[in-house]
Amino acid sequence: MGSEALHVFLFPVMAQGHMIPTLDIARLLAARGLKSTVICTPLNAISISKTTERDRLSGLNINVQTIPFPAAEVGLQEGIESMDQVTSPEMVSKFISAIALLQQPFEQLLEEHRPDFVIAGMFLPWATESAAKFGILRIVFHGTSYFSLSVGESLNIYKPYEAISTDADQDSSFVIPGLPDKIEMTMSQLPNHYKDKGLVADRMEKLRESELNSYGVLVNSFYELEPAYAEHYRSILGRKAWHIGPVSLRNTNTLDKAQRGKESTIDQHYVLDWLNSKEPNSVLYVSFGSVSRVSNNQLLELAMGLESSGYPFIWVGFLPKGFEEKIKGRGLIIRDWAPQVLILDHQALGGFMTHCGWNSMLEAISAGVPMITWPMFAEQFYNEKFVTQVIKTGIQLGAKEYNLWVEAKDVSLLKKEKIATVVSQLMGDGEEAKEMRQRAKEMSELAKRSVVEGGSSYTGLTTFIEEMKLYAKK
Ligand code: UDP
Repeated sequence: MGSEALHVFLFPVMAQGHMIPTLDIARLLAARGLKSTVICTPLNAISISKTTERDRLSGLNINVQTIPFPAAEVGLQEGIESMDQVTSPEMVSKFISAIALLQQPFEQLLEEHRPDFVIAGMFLPWATESAAKFGILRIVFHGTSYFSLSVGESLNIYKPYEAISTDADQDSSFVIPGLPDKIEMTMSQLPNHYKDKGLVADRMEKLRESELNSYGVLVNSFYELEPAYAEHYRSILGRKAWHIGPVSLRNTNTLDKAQRGKESTIDQHYVLDWLNSKEPNSVLYVSFGSVSRVSNNQLLELAMGLESSGYPFIWVGFLPKGFEEKIKGRGLIIRDWAPQVLILDHQALGGFMTHCGWNSMLEAISAGVPMITWPMFAEQFYNEKFVTQVIKTGIQLGAKEYNLWVEAKDVSLLKKEKIATVVSQLMGDGEEAKEMRQRAKEMSELAKRSVVEGGSSYTGLTTFIEEMKLYAKK
């Protein structure tokens, strides 16, 4: 082995759900002696600077290289550099065009720095080709589980939805073939790109091709969470993949937990004091991630449902007008950005109502917190099935319809009565709730064990690094 550190470029797409875990991966690799360089745009570099500076002070070899975000070139307002600032379908297309323009400056950075390998997010399909130009390997980071990757592949391979007539009821369901468990899905939950052939479908196919041509896949998961799917993805589907998660467990102190992603809009000590004043397992945390939007009517139903269920709660986002007064004392409102991992890890937390983003779910699994699932788009309906049907640490709220996050539609509104019932079911003292809590605690123990020396994810990371060294001849 040479004395020079193995150098990795990590390039996430500019969205919190990708930036946050990628930064954790950069830190994990640096902690194993690698030189990690995160590629991002200037405003995102500012967002992560506190964390990276702290890491550098603690001796980690973490660097940031920036590429200007071509907002003006695509007709986006200056200052927009992240998916959570995108608020309409038109802006989505512009944002995607901007991402395509990052290829050339990325290649310049590759030329200048000559890293040994690249870990790039799934939404950067050209990264495989860019890396190949410099004779280096590209690894894909999707940000989701083996289960979801397997569901996606089954849908791609078997196309079970094609057997359902186009004018059939959207509630018609089909079984997803080839999986270790019997998993069913309705037409209304199926991502749009499977139903509407067009630009988005073409784009998804490109992402898939780029993944197939890449060297392998890093998975933010741990073996004990989904052994059947880890085997299925690697042995049956034959993909090279390493599980290295939960990567959020890299954050062990209050500051690291509180400063993930954006600057919190609430003081972390205030949140901790509020939580300290509550009974163990009594608080429900309600958050729909960094990009999802919910219609005002739906927010109102949710607020009324929470009010009538009677449990204390933390709500991230805006409350409908006039409601704040009503819930004073019982609810803590965090307007924009919450210190999520800090909250989930607190003993007062009893449940998490989530939009089923994988990072959020895995953070809840790591903390031993059972969930109420409310999927909206992307692979969130798959994640819901995993948590409610495979590991059984969640209850579904009954969301029916896949919906692009920027379109806060009102169709199939979830009613306050249903919300109150499900909240009481999860937070109450019934047998089902107790068992779920017990399972969640056990899974959290397994998660924590997986990332320490000898654990499955610790070993996964070691194997991955050794393989990269072999290729880089270091
Ligand atoms: N997050 C946070 N505070 C918030 C909202 C989100 O720290 O107020 C973090 C959360 O902990 C997770 C990420 O942002 O790590 C969101 O990723 P996820 O995959 O759950 O959902 P997405 O935002 O990509 O839909």
